[in-house]
Amino acid sequence: MRSLLAAVPLLGTASTSAPVAARTIYSGVTILDPRTKTRLPDRYIVVEDKRIVAIGRGRVPRRYVDATAIDMKGRFAMPGLFDTHAHITLGPVSPQVKGGAVSLTVAGSDAITRHDALMLLAAGVTTIRDPGGDTARMVAYRDAVAAGRLTGPEAKVAGAVIDRSAFPVHGLVDRVDDAHNVASYVAAQSKAGVDYIKLYEALTPADLASGIKAAHAAGVTTIAHLGDVSWTTAARLGIDTLVHAMPISPDLLPADKRTTYLKARRPGPFAFFEWYEQVDLDGPEMREMIRTIAAKHIPMDATLIAFNLAFYGNDQQYRDRDVAWAYPTMTKNWETAFRFDLGWKPDDYRRAQAVWPKVQQFVRMLHAAGVPMTIGTDMNNPFVAPGISVAREAGLHVEAGIPAWDVLRMATTNAAALLKVSDRTGRLRSGMEADILFLDADPSIDIAALTKVRAVVENGRLHEPEALMAEARL
Ligand SMILES: [Zn+2]
Repeated sequence: MRSLLAAVPLLGTASTSAPVAARTIYSGVTILDPRTKTRLPDRYIVVEDKRIVAIGRGRVPRRYVDATAIDMKGRFAMPGLFDTHAHITLGPVSPQVKGGAVSLTVAGSDAITRHDALMLLAAGVTTIRDPGGDTARMVAYRDAVAAGRLTGPEAKVAGAVIDRSAFPVHGLVDRVDDAHNVASYVAAQSKAGVDYIKLYEALTPADLASGIKAAHAAGVTTIAHLGDVSWTTAARLGIDTLVHAMPISPDLLPADKRTTYLKARRPGPFAFFEWYEQVDLDGPEMREMIRTIAAKHIPMDATLIAFNLAFYGNDQQYRDRDVAWAYPTMTKNWETAFRFDLGWKPDDYRRAQAVWPKVQQFVRMLHAAGVPMTIGTDMNNPFVAPGISVAREAGLHVEAGIPAWDVLRMATTNAAALLKVSDRTGRLRSGMEADILFLDADPSIDIAALTKVRAVVENGRLHEPEALMAEARL
């Protein structure tokens, strides 16, 4: 591909980002506005420093004659994408057994985070929400990007996941036990500067209630990944946001299926399909749950790609299709130790694949009910590679029957509202931050066009995907 940057006077060649000319004009582009679901052909976008200062139609006015001109004829421009479930500090996960005691260690590193930040940008992701990781690393990432010390998507971050885990998970979980309660972790994380509190699947309703209360007192928002506690219960307790299209609480199953499920269920990710086998999506329990979270406008990201890759994990070619985007140590970890489908037999894959249409139907029902959904990937979980997975996740939503425009909205305006940054990004408008994704094809017609990234502008800085990827591999 001919370099876009060839047209730009380069002051230094070490960086992948062009130095910001006083003013840059991207001309001849079709703007896609997910908020209004409209296509605006033959537009020019004027960027000055970090902001969009004008958008117009047709010929570029003479007053911009001194600007750096970049011809984007035939291309499409849309707001930079959001990944609302990007674990930017997650590292390889490894089990230890010491004197019969089991623990897990999640070994995040600056090298992985730096790599993933560049790969996210290369895929057009200019903003992320990170819903859980090592507290210090999370805050450090957010602050380094904000201060311009690190190239990557702007972030809002949770701290360590708060959970009653069966064993210690070093580098990821703040473990609740007799000596440590939820509220004290919430207070410590809030003091450390997190934007969100992540409440996890083994917490009791009482834990959730105290976590939500402590978080709100500290002025931070809660995110829940739930197991046995139902989304209905969490919604009534005041949870702010939910994640994963896996609401695997026995309480949401029909009464006559509950006992069968509890008796036969196996630990861990088997529940992803065992629960779906038993659920009646049109039953009163599910209808009430969807009604409750829709009425309370509780946002959620489905992270379909994470489950899809496990359900179809016996198709190695499919499973591995994006590993070139991942940090090599992560790929190795997924291939050897860290897998959702660890120990699955052919019959397990068959059963999982058989319920996939129900997962799709559930997501469709949430959308139809008006639940404010966003696009989140669960990046760095097994085979969920940074960056490219956002396009995959969007594609899975379209496959589930949600119109492409609605999916583009989930990845931009809905996400900006979730992160409370709608006043400055998530739309292409004069006065907004210049976070722009340029594509070679129109994703409102074919969502797969999200993989055809021509260039990315983040806070006014122009990047080419190839250059970002080359820098990531250094
Ligand atoms: Zn996650």
